[in-house]
Amino acid sequence: MQSNHYDIVVVGGGMVGAALACALGNSALKVAVLEQSLPATPTPDYDLRVSAISLASQALFENVSAWPRMLARRVAPVREMQIWDAGGSGSIHFNAAEIGEACLAWIVENNVIQAALHERLHQYTNINYLCPAEVQTLNLTDTGATVMLKNGSTLQARLIVGADGADSLVRHAAHIQTQSLNLKQKGIVATVTTEKPHTQAARQRFLATGPLAFLPLTDAHTCSIVWSADSARADELLMLDDATFIATLQKAFGKSLGTLQTVGPRAAFPLTLTHANSYTTTRLALIGDAAHTVHPLAGQGVNLGFLDAAALAEVLLDAVVRHKDIGAHSVLRRYERWRKAENFSMVAITGGFRYLFGNDIPGLSQLRNLGLNAADAATPLKNFIMRRASGVNGDLPKLSRRREHAVP
Ligand SMILES: Cc1cc2nc3c(=O)[nH]c(=O)nc-3n(C[C@H](O)[C@H](O)[C@H](O)COP(=O)(O)OP(=O)(O)OC[C@H]3O[C@@H](n4cnc5c(N)ncnc54)[C@H](O)[C@@H]3O)c2cc1C
Repeated sequence: MQSNHYDIVVVGGGMVGAALACALGNSALKVAVLEQSLPATPTPDYDLRVSAISLASQALFENVSAWPRMLARRVAPVREMQIWDAGGSGSIHFNAAEIGEACLAWIVENNVIQAALHERLHQYTNINYLCPAEVQTLNLTDTGATVMLKNGSTLQARLIVGADGADSLVRHAAHIQTQSLNLKQKGIVATVTTEKPHTQAARQRFLATGPLAFLPLTDAHTCSIVWSADSARADELLMLDDATFIATLQKAFGKSLGTLQTVGPRAAFPLTLTHANSYTTTRLALIGDAAHTVHPLAGQGVNLGFLDAAALAEVLLDAVVRHKDIGAHSVLRRYERWRKAENFSMVAITGGFRYLFGNDIPGLSQLRNLGLNAADAATPLKNFIMRRASGVNGDLPKLSRRREHAVP
């Protein structure tokens, strides 16, 4: 592919941008993916960053033939979820068997997802992956778009897709405003070994300082943790020596996995709720974190991004069949209408949970306990939540719908 004229230029080859490229693989569209930094490759050690992958995201990976590559590396099933409130007696328990599923989600390391999608996109002759390629500016007109790279080269396209993450240059360059709430919190991630086996259950304890999750990895005694805390507290926790960190973590989490044994390297990521006021403008669409960021407590962030990618691909491929301009407002508007309301509700729900559980207002603790216990007892409501969060229900794009498969 010598020419710098493309149908679509995807800015950002992270998990979501790479998924979109795979979804457009083998189509009539000529696509460039521009990524500024080389992706991390999987190693024998667990990646610090993992994602709880919904069954809808798994379906997308299967439909673009990336899932076998993840299975061949490392994926861990989540068969149960236990959520409880540290400030009372409220708890809720989800079990995949209750909705007739083998598992509720999968825990997959981010570098495993990335590697599998990248291997796939390199196999498509209509996809050109350019890395390192840092986008510096854009020019959007009614008739076409131009992307300027830091190295001075330019690319022309009929459509630009911003998949360049939470601080999206594409979104800024297109003057798309956001509603944003800086939670002034950070999510600490680390890999922890435990005395008792995790039994393929994800556990989340809501502390007044923020939720603390233990996500099961392939080793029965190893979990990936996400510990949300106010930024100053998170910085303190990062600075602790391993023994003091483990003791503090034990106190925060309790003994449901016995005595915590070891902790690996730690890192912290700022937590912000963001939602773009618009997902599209002249010859441009935003997907993934470039359009929205949610609190990690529901493990939904990248799953929403994968739904964006699958929905946008479906809309664009449909436009090709109907001989429509893929950058036309009417085409892009269909994508925006499909995804915006659902994403916004997840931004609001995760923000609401954070408020509900991160507050000591008198009476709120009883309300939380009541709410959690009532939801736990109400089977139809519980099953609805499970089906929705797992990605079994909802207005799913075709690529996110499941084929029958055997779960190991
Ligand atoms: C602590 C934590 C835990 C989380 N856990 C979960 C979970 O369990 N489940 C879940 O669904 N989500 C989770 N998330 C959210 C998830 O990590 C994000 O939603 C996801 O990484 C977003 O992917 P993305 O591809 O949209 O953006 P990014 O991962 O940010 O990728 C953007 C890419 O664009 C590239 N880029 C940026 N600017 C340019 C430029 N100018 N030119 C070229 N390339 C550029 C970047 O290098 C990067 O590769 C979690 C988040 C945090 C912070």
